[in-house]
Amino acid sequence: MKTLVITGGAGFIGSHLCDLFLREGNRVLCVDNLLTGTEENLRPFLKNERFSFLRHDVSKPIEIGEKVDYVLHFASPASPADYHAYPIQTLKVGSLGTHNALGLAKAKKAVFLLASTSEVYGDPLVHPQREDYWGNVNPIGPRGVYDEAKRFAEAIALAYHRTHAVDVKIVRIFNTYGPRMRQNDGRAIPNFISQALAGEPITVFGQGSQTRSFTYVDDLVRGIRALLFSKLNEPVNLGNPREMTVLELARLIIELTGSPSRIDFRDLPQDDPRVRQPDITRARTKLGWEPAVDVRAGLIKTIDYFKSIGAGAK
Ligand code: NAD
Ligand code: UDP
Repeated sequence: MKTLVITGGAGFIGSHLCDLFLREGNRVLCVDNLLTGTEENLRPFLKNERFSFLRHDVSKPIEIGEKVDYVLHFASPASPADYHAYPIQTLKVGSLGTHNALGLAKAKKAVFLLASTSEVYGDPLVHPQREDYWGNVNPIGPRGVYDEAKRFAEAIALAYHRTHAVDVKIVRIFNTYGPRMRQNDGRAIPNFISQALAGEPITVFGQGSQTRSFTYVDDLVRGIRALLFSKLNEPVNLGNPREMTVLELARLIIELTGSPSRIDFRDLPQDDPRVRQPDITRARTKLGWEPAVDVRAGLIKTIDYFKSIGAGAK
């Protein structure tokens, strides 16, 4: 039985990781301050004796009084609406929080995995994005608090690898969706599904011509597991290369929900990346990983989840 510390474990992706590693018979310690996560996400495993929840802000030192084999650092606001609401917390958790999580991994001789992001590529000038692209980020724009925190996090993680020989893994996650996202977290998929189920206008920013590539959460956590147990120390993109415009996404969600909603075009936020698609050659060749869930199937499961929690009910 291995012991994993999962920071941000009460969030969307973190809770799926808790679930996966508990199902495989491990001990899981979730460390989360519930800034953007919920205890509701932990309800399925609160009674599991191999699971513990520590409510703690990881921007402050983390103390764990038992052996730890793996530290998975997922704590950070992730939705643009959240990191706009919490800019300083976002910078702190990406910098101080990552430093503390690395310190824990070093002290425990644990493997460290960082949840990085496609946002390190900013508004990319290279398409699709490969891991050797350095990115195009505005450090002082509204997204800078998130993008630069994650770029710093990658830099300090590799510094701990080079200086202290911590076995570091870095996953650059592309837009991921699925059950346990918050209805009101402000990201495109939860917004569009909630709006469609309520019959309200779908808020498409700009003309909706910007593109994203959406990954279903089960595919992502399978890839994270493969990376964690691999020998790789260089960053790895995990994402579904199927790219679509935001308008196409809105229309697909209207179709799949059978909603009468119309589309309401709003202003495009500053520095919104115009395109985004992962090049997953590295994950394919070095991890044997490939996404398996196509976007219609993943959206249907996500819509069912949102219905089950009462989204759209008047
Ligand atoms: P989320 O907001 O659902 O989860 C983040 C979790 O971190 C929440 O439970 C929150 O309470 C916790 N947290 C935030 N600050 C904390 C702090 N200082 N101390 C302790 N806990 C703290 O977001 P998510 O979508 O699950 O994202 C998880 C991670 O994956 C983040 O690091 C994010 O940057 C990264 N990521 C996600 C996506 C995506 O599409 N979902 C894409 C790229 C990267
Ligand atoms: N978006 C939108 N309407 C919304 C929320 C988001 O058109 O209500 C757009 C947003 O401008 C971006 C894309 O959808 O171009 C994906 O946004 P999200 O917040 O999900 O993630 P991002 O990729 O921007 O981090």
